[in-house]
Amino acid sequence: MTELLDALGGPLPHEGSDPLAVIEDLAQAAEPGLVRTNAGRYFGFVEGGVLPASLAADWLASAWDQNAAYFALSPAAAATEEVCRGWLSDLLGLPDTVSAGFTTGAQTANVIGLAAARHRVLADAGWDVDAEGLFGAPRLSVLVGAERHATIDRALRFLGLGSNSIVEIPADEHGRIRTEHLADALAARTTEPVIVCAQVGNVNTGACDPMQVICDLAHRYGAWVHVDGAFGLWAGASASTRHLVDGVAAADSWATDAHKWLNVPYDSGIAFCAHPESHRAAMTLSASYLARTGDRDGADWTPESSRRARAFAVWAALRSLGRSGVADMVDTSCAQARRIARTLAADEDVEILNDVVLNQVLARVGGDDDRTRGVAAAVQAEGSTWLGTTVRNGVTALRISVSDHATNDEDVRVVTDAVLRAVHSAH
Ligand SMILES: *Cc1c(COP(=O)(O)O)cnc(C)c1O
Repeated sequence: MTELLDALGGPLPHEGSDPLAVIEDLAQAAEPGLVRTNAGRYFGFVEGGVLPASLAADWLASAWDQNAAYFALSPAAAATEEVCRGWLSDLLGLPDTVSAGFTTGAQTANVIGLAAARHRVLADAGWDVDAEGLFGAPRLSVLVGAERHATIDRALRFLGLGSNSIVEIPADEHGRIRTEHLADALAARTTEPVIVCAQVGNVNTGACDPMQVICDLAHRYGAWVHVDGAFGLWAGASASTRHLVDGVAAADSWATDAHKWLNVPYDSGIAFCAHPESHRAAMTLSASYLARTGDRDGADWTPESSRRARAFAVWAALRSLGRSGVADMVDTSCAQARRIARTLAADEDVEILNDVVLNQVLARVGGDDDRTRGVAAAVQAEGSTWLGTTVRNGVTALRISVSDHATNDEDVRVVTDAVLRAVHSAH
């Protein structure tokens, strides 16, 4: 960090510099601090790579400098968002009437979906949250799986639903909501507004909550179902993984990322809602200088006002891959994850902890936390590839995520070789 600060820093110069020299300086100063997440060999977190057409479209978005807040500011951005809304709902198997907000990522998309949910379940209970806020509102419960993503807690906090609003539903060995516990929690709350927050694509195991059962149960009690599907929602784009998200179309709102499995450059996420009126009511704004044309105003569907025209890069990714290309990309990542798991499992010192249903692999070395962490550190230090660790059910594991279209057979060999080398040299 110090070297980077030195290279980039110093006092702000009084005089400006030649633009070309500035860019050359920036490239040179930043280079040692760049992380190569998009060249096929990065398996940490859940990091998508970048499709060439999508990258070029993102450059256009910058060069055109379009503000996607209002139709009047960029009819092209508004139309592209509308086209992507339709394409994505079709591809992911969501109702074709969903509304969509194009935002920074699943974090904000979770805020949007849960804000629409808060609006609707409180309205159903006779409370106008947009006028009254939460002071004096009926108590609201959010039923959410024990293995939810941390961004759900933050989204709820932003929405004034503190951690005491959360009712944690136990998860099974794969990390999925146990529906018998959900049924009990719903039955115990028939008189209060309830939001059920499910997940497709557990950030450790890749497991997907049983959406059909969850939606049936929740809707029987009048609850709203929000789905965090940052990467798992893309299982719906392939015939071979679609069964994992069976029933997801019956939910009320969904959050996903384009910068993960769709391989769009950072940042890009999408919120979908089956109830456009609730979505809009939770997000819209009005101002005297805003002449509404009836055409799509992007700011009605996200918490941002001025906003980057992210849909161009989404459009280019979808257009360059087509339906079959997206399915192939999902299938290839899953096959590569299975291959990594098989190769590692063949070593007597390595144990695979999860059922590799999607693109996530959890591996443990020698049944030992320290040894597992040591292997991750050795792989990171060696530098041919990168993966991290996680702690699940009190046990440390290597966490390997395959989310980059650029990952090929050779890259799969590189990561398994690096792990196995570290397993045997660090011992
Ligand atoms: C990555 C992820 C998020 C957060 O997404 P961002 O793109 O970082 O905003 C939320 N939920 C799940 C399941 C994720 O994998």
